[in-house]
Amino acid sequence: MIEAKSKFLIKFSLKNNLKELRNILGITGCVSALAIALSYAGIFQALELSVLDRWFRLRPSEPKDQRIVVVTISESDLNHLRQWPISDEVLSKVITNISQQKPRVIGLDIYRDLPVKPGTPKLDEVFGSTPNLIGVEKAIDDIVKPSPILEEKGQVALADLVLDSDNTVRRGLLSIQVDNDQVKLGLATRLALMYLAAEDIALQTVGNTVRRSLGKALFVPFSGNDGGYIRADSGGFQVLLNFRGTETSFQQISVVDVLNGKIPEDLMRDRLVLIGSTAQSLNDLFATPYSGDLNRSKYLPGVYVHANLASQILGAALDGRTLIKVINEPLEWLWVVAWTGVASAISFLVLSSDAFDKHNLSLAKLTVICVIVPGVTLLSSGYLLFLSGWWLPVITPLFSLVCSTVAASNYHQQAQKKLAFIDGLTQIPNRRFFDQFLAQHWSESKRKKQSLSIILCDVDHFKKYNDTYGHQAGDVCLQQVAKSISQNVRSQDLAARYGGEEFVVVLPNATPEIAMMIAQRICNHLRGLQIPHSSSQASEYVSLSCGVASTNNNLVSSPEYLIANADHALYLAKEQGRDRFILAD
Ligand code: GH3
Ligand code: MG
Ligand code: MG
Repeated sequence: MIEAKSKFLIKFSLKNNLKELRNILGITGCVSALAIALSYAGIFQALELSVLDRWFRLRPSEPKDQRIVVVTISESDLNHLRQWPISDEVLSKVITNISQQKPRVIGLDIYRDLPVKPGTPKLDEVFGSTPNLIGVEKAIDDIVKPSPILEEKGQVALADLVLDSDNTVRRGLLSIQVDNDQVKLGLATRLALMYLAAEDIALQTVGNTVRRSLGKALFVPFSGNDGGYIRADSGGFQVLLNFRGTETSFQQISVVDVLNGKIPEDLMRDRLVLIGSTAQSLNDLFATPYSGDLNRSKYLPGVYVHANLASQILGAALDGRTLIKVINEPLEWLWVVAWTGVASAISFLVLSSDAFDKHNLSLAKLTVICVIVPGVTLLSSGYLLFLSGWWLPVITPLFSLVCSTVAASNYHQQAQKKLAFIDGLTQIPNRRFFDQFLAQHWSESKRKKQSLSIILCDVDHFKKYNDTYGHQAGDVCLQQVAKSISQNVRSQDLAARYGGEEFVVVLPNATPEIAMMIAQRICNHLRGLQIPHSSSQASEYVSLSCGVASTNNNLVSSPEYLIANADHALYLAKEQGRDRFILAD
């Protein structure tokens, strides 16, 4: 008997757990959908980008790129040269000195659309005789024309950089397509392609796609929603910048040293050389992930942004250094749903575990287990993925994870509350709920001057039923009785288990006539079920005796009195032979 009962209890709790699991799955779905919708509204973009910035700063630094040399024009160089822009004469000397070291390519990240006397004829001559020199123009927004001579020779590339809405550089512009279907390359792209051409590596189209392969690298153009971005401008062929680092990640030499011929031997031989200004006063400075909280002193000169992009292209093509890859949108949704599911599952397991009930775990501990642990795991996985070249959003799943945990624990609390008012065996409201319901409707009926009735029902000879058919069959019988009573009351009535084999029905706004009608309906219906009860002296089937009481006269002064009246009527029904209902006087 005990074994049967415990089997039943296990089955019962399993059923409840399955229901809870189903609801928690529902929570996972709804919360993930909300998080994804909010992320599409752009709410998390700034946070996602700042997380990406932090990862760049956290990432162990890579060795210097030995293929690239930056010739810097710093504040102290300007003080030394006492001029800006530096004259054509000085510039021609700088290029000549660099050329003597036989670099593979030279990028001049200084606008030279207008002559800066003296020395213009000399510079024109140097421009004309240095085929591996690339000058710059600015083609987007405020246009700056290239040097006419370099333009004529086709030795021009774009100096344009792509800025995010927070004015930070995180993407590189490989190329743009201009009106007449002509493609213009960015400075870093142009230099890197020339550098690689010497090693017979050229850009290839991949099938019929917009993807391009270059040596070991595969370039996929940035789409506006990549990683944490939402509807970013994806014009031209852009890639996410996989920074090598700041100034310290590149070999550098000052322009004054170049001018004075103080270049270490072979520093530039066969290298990619970039010339650009780094002076604070020249303001060619950009916020990057390394700038931290937009610390101006940590802004990166534009020439180093080009150096980073050139280094990224060369590294990817030659060494297979990773590019920053993203997953497509459906996979991103799956990523969010998966983390939400994990968090919900943990909350579910913790909340429904015995440990939670036994040790009465505090909310703080619950938060630690259900939010902090998966949250930290999510952030660490995001960082580890980033280290291997993948950028996946973490703020959207983090938001989803926190919300689902809060929702799941809230739901669990509600479910527990509800459970406290439901009778475990019959799944109808219990005595506690009945007490509240009666008290509430008692005062309401007084206020509205309506009559309130109750019916107290008791199964006839139930002890004998147990003795005849066994306790387990008795339980099943009680479930059938509970169901039968519940089915035969009005929608506004409450049928509850009063205790043992006794049930009670509360009938708000019901006259004694209505209450008797319903009592009759209840008795008839159960009798009609024809549940055999061979040892009953009242009937061959399971039957009920009912006591009906009503507040139709003011003599009934309290709910307790109403119950006592019904109990007395029930006693009379038993005395008069059972299987009947009696209305209290
Ligand atoms: P009467 O017609 O006078 O009401 O006789 P009775 O045998 O129904 O009344 P009594 O109060 O003597 O016995 C009630 C029985 O109901 C005793 C108890 O074992 C049984 N019972 C109470 N709760 C449960 C239950 O949850 N499951 C089962 N199987 N039996 C129960
Ligand atoms: Mg009884
Ligand atoms: Mg009984």
